[in-house]
Amino acid sequence: MSLRSKIDWTDSTWNPVTGCTKTSEGCVNCYAARMASRLQKMGSAKYSNGFELTIHEDCLDDPYSWKKPNRVFVNSMSDLFHEDVPFEFISKVFQVMNDNQQHISKFSPSVRKGFVLRLAA
Ligand code: SF4
Repeated sequence: MSLRSKIDWTDSTWNPVTGCTKTSEGCVNCYAARMASRLQKMGSAKYSNGFELTIHEDCLDDPYSWKKPNRVFVNSMSDLFHEDVPFEFISKVFQVMNDNQQHISKFSPSVRKGFVLRLAA
């Protein structure tokens, strides 16, 4: 299930991966880390690991069930291109996006940069 978003450039979020690793000063005030901690305290099953990187295979098929076209913020609560996310899983995420082109998939600029860096590694 997608979550409705209050962010003006998106309609909903889709998080097949949650959690990340703080690696730079830019991560000090990470919104996703704060939200994950909050959701964990609220008892959200998806955030039972808090901000620890977690792959949610069970969320992969969610976009197939959304009939109304959405602007989807993909992985708002993580870095899809984190070094511990297997390329096979990233490939599955892109397959789902490709299969569901009624939706517009959006990434944060920092994640796009991470994608390029990981490809170059
Ligand atoms: S989601 Fe972004 S800001 Fe947050 S810890 Fe990961 S890389 Fe840093």
